[in-house]
Amino acid sequence: MAKPYLSVVIPVYNEQENLPALFLRLTAALDKLGKPFEILFTNDGSRDRSGAILKEFHHRRPRHVRVIELGGNFGQHMAIMAAFERVRGDVVVTLDADLQNPPEEIPKLLAAIEAGHDVVGGYRENRRDPLFRRSASRLINGLRARITRIRMRDQGCMLRAYRRSIVDHITASGETSTFIPALAYSFAANPAEVEVEHAPRTVGRSKYGLYDLIRLNFDLMTGFSVVPLQIFTLFGMVVSILSILFVVYLFIRRLVIGPEAEGIFTLFTILYFLVGVVIMGLGIIGEYIGRIFQEVRHRPRFVIREIIEAPDE
Ligand code: UDP
Ligand code: MG
Repeated sequence: MAKPYLSVVIPVYNEQENLPALFLRLTAALDKLGKPFEILFTNDGSRDRSGAILKEFHHRRPRHVRVIELGGNFGQHMAIMAAFERVRGDVVVTLDADLQNPPEEIPKLLAAIEAGHDVVGGYRENRRDPLFRRSASRLINGLRARITRIRMRDQGCMLRAYRRSIVDHITASGETSTFIPALAYSFAANPAEVEVEHAPRTVGRSKYGLYDLIRLNFDLMTGFSVVPLQIFTLFGMVVSILSILFVVYLFIRRLVIGPEAEGIFTLFTILYFLVGVVIMGLGIIGEYIGRIFQEVRHRPRFVIREIIEAPDE
């Protein structure tokens, strides 16, 4: 088989209900392109029948389908990373397995790549997710835009295309916890964005609970910005300056008015507030240190149990 032009990368975690329809629509869309392609599925430790279904896809189209079986659940971004390390195409497209990203949109991304862009992000004008997810995303997108240098409209949309050189930079970076669209953006010389459709999830559940979303976004903020730390330094400086002024003021009062002991509750409120800020600051420092700890242990980012693919020719 000719060397693929396009590699489509799909992370899969308990998606047995979605896979058959995904496979039909995806292969139809890719066959229509008329260019050599490969599809890399990463099975991210699914506990349902996803693994068996993916294996069957490989047997149906051994030249087009490769399956990477991870040894556990390492998360969406690491699942994509495992596939990124093995792509053969010149252009790489990522996509969710739950059909929320229509495979029919892939040609739109490819057109932008062929127009000379190296990173093409999809953004969802009509995002079909619960209100809670949409409003949380809006908040986080805004925060990320403020504290990092990453400029993208919709960081959560995984329907994206990359030139191979960008993917090679991503895999070389070797980070344990990362956010792939942001990492790609930081290597991009000429990024572009195109509007893509978004469908509601019809079967299966979203794999991201509140806690996962918080963790993922901490990865994003700490991985791409030190502004959270700088804000604490600045806040500490402001409080110190105000405290000095306050001490001088109290000292003068002591001389003029004499000893006083009023306003104890005001004092408590101020103290509680400052203690809260200090605890939060410790937490933020902890987030960075925890990630440093993860990196220095040098454990493998993910474990591959098996790769199901046709031998290279
Ligand atoms: N996914 C994964 N590992 C995980 C969680 C999710 O490979 O630990 C995959 C999942 O199968 C899907 C994609 O990542 O293909 C996006 O997940 P999901 O649809 O649950 O996220 P949402 O659309 O709710 O953000
Ligand atoms: Mg989804």
